Amino acid sequence: MPTFEYAPAPESRSVVDLQSSYGLFINGEFVDSRGGTPFKTISPATEEVLAEVCEASAEDVDRAVAAARAAFGSWSSLSGADRGKYLFRIARIMQERAREFAVLESLDNGKPIKESRDVDVPIAAAHFFYHAGWADKLAYASLGQNPRPHGVVGQVIPWNFPLLMLAWKIAPALATGNTVVLKPAETTPLTALLFAQVCQQADLPPGVVNIITGAGPTGQALIAHQDVDKVAFTGSTAVGKAIARTIAGTRKKATLELGGKAANIVFDDAPVDQAVEGIVNGIFFNQGHVCCAGSRLLVQESIAQEVEDKLKARLATLRVGDPLDKNTDIGAINSAEQLERINTLVKVGEDEGATRWSPECELPANGFWFRPTVFTGVSQTHRIAQEEIFGPVLSVLTFRTPGEAVSKANNTPYGLSAGIWTEKGSRILWMADQLKAGVVWANTFNKFDPTSPFGGYKESGYGREGGRHGLSAYVTTGAAT
Ligand code: NAD
Repeated sequence: MPTFEYAPAPESRSVVDLQSSYGLFINGEFVDSRGGTPFKTISPATEEVLAEVCEASAEDVDRAVAAARAAFGSWSSLSGADRGKYLFRIARIMQERAREFAVLESLDNGKPIKESRDVDVPIAAAHFFYHAGWADKLAYASLGQNPRPHGVVGQVIPWNFPLLMLAWKIAPALATGNTVVLKPAETTPLTALLFAQVCQQADLPPGVVNIITGAGPTGQALIAHQDVDKVAFTGSTAVGKAIARTIAGTRKKATLELGGKAANIVFDDAPVDQAVEGIVNGIFFNQGHVCCAGSRLLVQESIAQEVEDKLKARLATLRVGDPLDKNTDIGAINSAEQLERINTLVKVGEDEGATRWSPECELPANGFWFRPTVFTGVSQTHRIAQEEIFGPVLSVLTFRTPGEAVSKANNTPYGLSAGIWTEKGSRILWMADQLKAGVVWANTFNKFDPTSPFGGYKESGYGREGGRHGLSAYVTTGAAT
């Protein structure tokens, strides 16, 4: 059969107006840092410098929290309908500027444009629309008696879904009347800074949203700040534990969305071709930089060979390369550090005796890249079956009975998500009941919706984002003290 090459289909960068350097967004304007060190954000696909941003100092954190505190009184006393109007406005502007957001996200993060365009940006806007709708209905959301905001919320997010994680954090906080200081990850600050411009465009009152850039120390200063009432963090379990220690014994409320090592479980009655698509989407979507990625495939032994063969054939068709090319399936790894971590764990997998396989594919000369990789012959004790690799690497294990599938799926310190592939509805319900996972997908994977709560068990964190459950983390209830 003849094979055809795809002609290049690059998305134009011209829609993005990149500045050479950015200040911090405090009290409604971009300001210079006081004493913070500048650093560069680069394109992981080319290593080209995109812009210079500033690592916010402790004094900057103080200014941002003070601005959020000053804005809290008037923002929280606006009617819910009026707060909702601002959220609707933000959502509509995000839609109008969707292409700009998508191109910028792909440039700064390395993810394929078809994902930033079709997943990240539309769902981010959907979160603002959804929460805009709740703003004037909080009293009817079964959150408890007299729901009211906490005050100033300190939010720290990771680099894998920069704009989407921002939306998950900021939309419910604003809808419930809180004000916000948010720190994006150090490798992906640009869409958060573009979002700051959207806040200006929407005439959001100054201080309601403040965006400060920086790395771990800036995040730490924000979380530890004594005038922050609630903390919302998404990131690694190690940092989540450090944050829990920092705020233990204080009045601060917290939600922690941490790591995962999800099982994608395929039974012998599953439609195999559909399941293979689900496996590919489960682990190779966003280069596997997904907290809920289906990084462990548990496949029933009787169909293991068939699934493996079909999976390899499908992986051979994936196109790895330029994130801005509309044909690209797998983009760049977000940073040199993350690539190093993936390489280290993959080497461990080989040393532990698992069998490594990747399709032939040419990788670009510059930037950070990793071929889609499958490990077979994996046992439960292997580190690649236990630790989050956070890259395009799948570990395949087998099982014979539903009970064995459940005990293997639950045999990790994490509990964020799981997938079940079977034709039997009763089995789906039984499995979902047994699995210690905050989200269980049936005959699909990696589907997200603002109405649906998302969050983990065990070391995957606590609290939920999205839906009514997500709102409840941003309010306090009962008689006012
Ligand atoms: P990370 O924990 O290294 O960093 C996350 C954020 O925390 C960044 O903004 C970073 O600058 C900041 N930070 C680092 N040290 C800090 C400290 N001591 N105090 C306060 N802030 C600090 O994680 P990452 O590498 O950016 O992201 C990948 C991790 O995020 C993975 O483990 C992934 O599973 C997890 N994640 C979870 C979810 C979820 O919803 N559960 C979603 C996306 C990503």
